[in-house]
Amino acid sequence: MKTVLIIDDHVFEAGEGEAGLALVRQHRPQIVLCDLLMPRGNGFQVCRELRANPALRHIRIIVTTGRDYEADRQSACDAGADAYLTKPISAEAILKAIGKLLPRVASENPPAAAPAAAAGKTTPVRVKFWGVRGSIPTPGPATVQYGGNTSCVEVRAGDEIIILDAGTGLRQLGRALMAEFKDRPLRLTLLLTHTHWDHIQGLPFFAPVYSPNCRLRILGYEGARKSLVHVLSGQMESPYFPVPFQELPGNIEIEELKDLHFHVGAVRGAAWFANHPGICVGYRLFTADGDIVYIPDNEPIMRHRVETAIWPKQGRDAVTFAQDEEEKMIAFLHGTDVLILDSQYDREEYQHHVGWGHGCVDDAVALALRAEAKKLFLFHHDPDHDDAKISSMVDYAQKLVAEQKAELAVAAAREGEVIEFAPRSSPPPA
Ligand SMILES: [Zn+2]
Ligand SMILES: [Zn+2]
Repeated sequence: MKTVLIIDDHVFEAGEGEAGLALVRQHRPQIVLCDLLMPRGNGFQVCRELRANPALRHIRIIVTTGRDYEADRQSACDAGADAYLTKPISAEAILKAIGKLLPRVASENPPAAAPAAAAGKTTPVRVKFWGVRGSIPTPGPATVQYGGNTSCVEVRAGDEIIILDAGTGLRQLGRALMAEFKDRPLRLTLLLTHTHWDHIQGLPFFAPVYSPNCRLRILGYEGARKSLVHVLSGQMESPYFPVPFQELPGNIEIEELKDLHFHVGAVRGAAWFANHPGICVGYRLFTADGDIVYIPDNEPIMRHRVETAIWPKQGRDAVTFAQDEEEKMIAFLHGTDVLILDSQYDREEYQHHVGWGHGCVDDAVALALRAEAKKLFLFHHDPDHDDAKISSMVDYAQKLVAEQKAELAVAAAREGEVIEFAPRSSPPPA
């Protein structure tokens, strides 16, 4: 009898990679249908695991995905996938793919709420932008107002210093931390959204990693091809950098997150898979004084699917699927106090960058409005945008909000800017 095992976080059989692999080892099916983006083991990892195990190597793997990027298709093939299907997928398409392969072969429930003793009771929660640029640093007179360093945001909440991404802005943050802490112990958590250069390049130049007084915990999700340790140490190998990662004097711990919910001390965190090539997430931090959502790289999926004109090919199912995915994003953002969101392009520029994994300002505003966010920061500024262009995008975004008679505040993230939350625990003004 031929058997098919489905691993997909949208179905009952196995909602995550590790549970799926356990079922595969137990049942040894001939076909595995596996979602790409899952907690506790993504589709690339499942492929590699099956291909590395001689006892399971015969299994044919169909990878399914809601994200439509050629680079991911290639990575899945390299990892060992036999077929790659983009959602929504009709029963006929699945049967067809299985039919082709068979002849060759013999909800997320958020965890319990964070402890009531949340962070930030003494000092108000604070967010500071150290790098706001996308793709590559852009120093020069035309970018002094908003800044030219790539993605890096610092969050102070209670005892926690949480750093969102390690773009080149991380270097200046390192200098500031060393000046503030001097010889005192320094405990830091770095959350990486993904490992594209503009999100990791500051790490070799981050002064605390050269200090034995520093404990740095780096959290993130495995990339499409290599582990987090491999990618971060790879950029410091000898052709690229003189000091190997393993020889850094700081105490550095790299931890690959498996679940989409986690804690950094008393701060609860959640992750959401962005529509961006490879494995890329956005984070939400729930602090005592308010919430921060950070999604530096994301191409809104409805726009992406519309522009690539898949509707005529796949019909209403495709619309429904993209709408569902967008609803999940809205739920992730909903009600946040601060929303830091990819708005790399204006609408016209986006037409020439469809499928590059980034969004336009119109969609950033629309998503923020639908999610009832309080303040939107346009982020991941395009390297070709000078200060005047970014200011004009802010004006345009504010006009969109005014037309909707909405309350949303909009600004462009600016290097050096600090956002201080009003303490929720403070008494109301007299
Ligand atoms: Zn980026
Ligand atoms: Zn990226």
